[in-house]
Amino acid sequence: MEKGFVYLVGAGPGRADLITVRGAEVLKKADCIIYDKLANPALLRFARADAEIIHVPKRTGGSSVTQEEINRLLLEKASAGQTVVRLKGGDPCIFGRVAEELAVLIEAGIHFEIVPGITAGIAVAAYAGIILTDREYNSQVVFVTGQEKQGKQKSNIDWNLLAKFNGTIVFYMGMGNLNSITERLMENGMDADTPVVVIADATFPTQRVVKAILGDISEKCRQAKIEPPAIVVIGAAAGSNTQLNWFMKKPLFGKSIVVTRDAAGNVDFAAKIISRAGNPLKFATIKIKPLTETNEFLRTLAKITEYDWIIFTSGNGVTIFFEALQNLGKDARVFGSAKIAAIGSGTAAKLSEFGINADFVPTVFTSKELGRQLIGHANLRSKKLLLLRSKIASNELVELLDKAGAEVQDVAVYTAVEQKSQSAPLIEEISNSRIDWLTFASPSSVNGFFEQIHSDLVNSGNVKVASIGPVTSERLEALGLTVDVTAADNTLDGLLDAIEETYRR
Ligand code: SAH
Repeated sequence: MEKGFVYLVGAGPGRADLITVRGAEVLKKADCIIYDKLANPALLRFARADAEIIHVPKRTGGSSVTQEEINRLLLEKASAGQTVVRLKGGDPCIFGRVAEELAVLIEAGIHFEIVPGITAGIAVAAYAGIILTDREYNSQVVFVTGQEKQGKQKSNIDWNLLAKFNGTIVFYMGMGNLNSITERLMENGMDADTPVVVIADATFPTQRVVKAILGDISEKCRQAKIEPPAIVVIGAAAGSNTQLNWFMKKPLFGKSIVVTRDAAGNVDFAAKIISRAGNPLKFATIKIKPLTETNEFLRTLAKITEYDWIIFTSGNGVTIFFEALQNLGKDARVFGSAKIAAIGSGTAAKLSEFGINADFVPTVFTSKELGRQLIGHANLRSKKLLLLRSKIASNELVELLDKAGAEVQDVAVYTAVEQKSQSAPLIEEISNSRIDWLTFASPSSVNGFFEQIHSDLVNSGNVKVASIGPVTSERLEALGLTVDVTAADNTLDGLLDAIEETYRR
């Protein structure tokens, strides 16, 4: 049998989007992914549906038995002819025990590639606004492990040299031994006033920074209950300008925001929240069910070229429509010369993924405005209009278009059915005031959510409510809820903008 191939891939320091393009590319083709505790599991979204996923969290202290097991696994999978990705936190070659894994592969004659990653020391500094080599202070940086191989007789660390080092010292894995690290540096002559900063959980919304001096950093971290993973930066650079701490200054930094769409929609929305430094919690309330196998849909499709305007009122509608086309072996050419309207920029963006430039998008992204503005934009009298949307959409749009003399056909391409999620943990989080915001992006999500969570809990004042637009807010209010913000721009980004705005006031 032909031997497999092993990619040793750096997953980056935490946030899933800090992996390299090459790293993501090889994840997509892996037969088997063996990943560490520090590699973000969200990266597995790149994995093929049939890829084998093996999680190998190492015990603290990295027991050698476990490393041997990992080596054996690598060998077994690659020898079976598989393309294996060994996904490691940060960069695989920085304190990653990659040498041991490579030795095994080399001995077995298995080919490999190393895909570098952003190492924690670099990312942590960037995300805390620490410039490791600000030339005002120094011209050298050293990376040191705070935890040497167990059972080692003689330390590899030259404490005497480190204590006199005129530069920035970056300790990995230093939390367990922070007290003895600082003691040894001081014993060897480093000034107790030397600036030190400890950054834990870097790049995540849970990132924490403790600044102190060498003499008291250990105590300050103990008081602040700082837990690994954390990096310790020692030297003048650690005392740098707090103005540079851009990440933790973002308005949504550390805010826990519940997303309540369907599972796939929640993934998209969560990514937007993460990119604004917030902490998304996914709570699916609905399931999107395509209705594209119905006779009504298939009959409509057969005569779709007869329509003058085809109107999409959600990204879901677009995706499901095009999936159905693809299953039938068709593509966007079915539209012929029909004009296409989209309710908003999100829906228009989805259309453009399928090569369609919407002919019309209103300036306000609601059904009512879509109707009103389309009537102003084009003469719809006796024109044939096709709405491809959710079965549970309101009738307002149809009525408006009818009134303008159009011949409207409203065809459901999907419906939203309620979905149960694990409500007990969310109820507990809300009760303990650990959630900042609940977000709602459609009336059906509102219905699905409050089927599972009592409105009194939400009205108790422990959590705020944000809505994507007037129709969703109306639904919330009808259920007796207080809506704290309604987005002015009725998109997911508009919703987040509106939440951010409340912190700028
Ligand atoms: N190969 C990894 C390092 C593995 S050692 C890399 O290149 O980054 C594990 C250590 O990395 C932790 O003890 C901690 O010091 C550091 N680390 C990893 N992720 C971190 C994070 N998100 N925030 C702070 N430190 C982190």
